[in-house]
Amino acid sequence: MEILQNILLAPFTTIAVGGPAKYFSRARTAAELVDLFGWARSKGENVFVLGGGSNVLVSDAGFDGLVVKIEISGINFDVVGDTVLVTAGAGVDWDGFVRECVDRDLAGVECLSGIPGNVGGTPVQNVGAYGQEVSETIVRVRCFDRAAGTIVELSNDECGFEYRKSIFNTSERERYVVLWVVFRLVPGGQPKIVYKDLQQRFSGGAPSLREARETVIAIRREKSMVIDPTDPNSRSAGSFFKNPIVSTSVADSIAEELKLDSIPQFAAGDDDVKIPAAWLIEQAGFRKGFILGNAGISTNHSLAIINRGSATSAEIVALKDLTQKSVLDKFGIRLQPEPIFIGF
Ligand SMILES: Cc1cc2nc3c(=O)[nH]c(=O)nc-3n(C[C@H](O)[C@H](O)[C@H](O)COP(=O)(O)OP(=O)(O)OC[C@H]3O[C@@H](n4cnc5c(N)ncnc54)[C@H](O)[C@@H]3O)c2cc1C
Repeated sequence: MEILQNILLAPFTTIAVGGPAKYFSRARTAAELVDLFGWARSKGENVFVLGGGSNVLVSDAGFDGLVVKIEISGINFDVVGDTVLVTAGAGVDWDGFVRECVDRDLAGVECLSGIPGNVGGTPVQNVGAYGQEVSETIVRVRCFDRAAGTIVELSNDECGFEYRKSIFNTSERERYVVLWVVFRLVPGGQPKIVYKDLQQRFSGGAPSLREARETVIAIRREKSMVIDPTDPNSRSAGSFFKNPIVSTSVADSIAEELKLDSIPQFAAGDDDVKIPAAWLIEQAGFRKGFILGNAGISTNHSLAIINRGSATSAEIVALKDLTQKSVLDKFGIRLQPEPIFIGF
């Protein structure tokens, strides 16, 4: 168990901002993880669990405790009836995992191609894109229970998945460390083509899983939503805000105020709709390419706040506050950030 001191966290995050961790270590096995939690307890240090760093914003002051980077590797494929159970370590690169599944002609995660981060981060906010979410295929999640000090298995139901939510980022936040995730995929299955952007690209045709994956990545690349060191617009934490869910009457009154027949929206349950946060931000006066100091809005996607090169975390927060306040003042809707804030 190697514990390093005063390690800058910015290089471990995709938005590349943030100060140092007082202590930093890596867990390659469940046993190493348990040891690290024991060490932190004996020293009275807080622990933060880091995956691929694609959904976090670290403060300039950093984290006053132990940051444990999860690096549990390995993927196993087990044929069960006419499905395949795929068990992946929390430290496996997510897009590498999706590629491997698509290469084996296993359907269920193809629309989640190109999303950065690791397997262990996906149940946390029920990662989703282009009409697919991991909650559709996760069977169970094996975790270390920090409160009880034991290894437990949680079923899909017990994870409490909703839009960008699970018990891991709500009621049981920071209680469980994900070690392994088990997915049920379908050999030879059809790709899920329900999202408008995807339907338009295939214009009614029936693409293969590989074609669906390649198309998703191409669309994401146009929006700088894949990590590409040569694309400064991808120095982000992805979408900075969740799409707010409001009642249809709120959506109707916004349309009325703007003198529009209707506003962009997706059904989200009985009498609720989801409004694209990107649309609200644009209507509040923030165009793609907007700049505030060293922070900015991606020129390819108005929902991505980017580090323009040497931004501090405070500059990212200043732009987040400004957009949040402007949307609140104009529409009465408080946008909720998607990334997890560390050390604030
Ligand atoms: C360019 C870009 C595009 C993106 N596109 C999408 C998208 O289309 N859809 C989407 O849903 N998200 C998207 N994201 C957000 C992000 O990629 C996902 O949320 C991803 O699953 C986060 O995983 P991670 O390993 O990077 O987690 P981290 O960023 O390291 O951590 C995020 C949170 O999860 C916790 N966590 C991480 N690993 C574990 C673990 N093993 N056990 C317990 N807790 C853990 C952390 O403590 C933290 O609270 C995007 C991000 C970027 C930068």
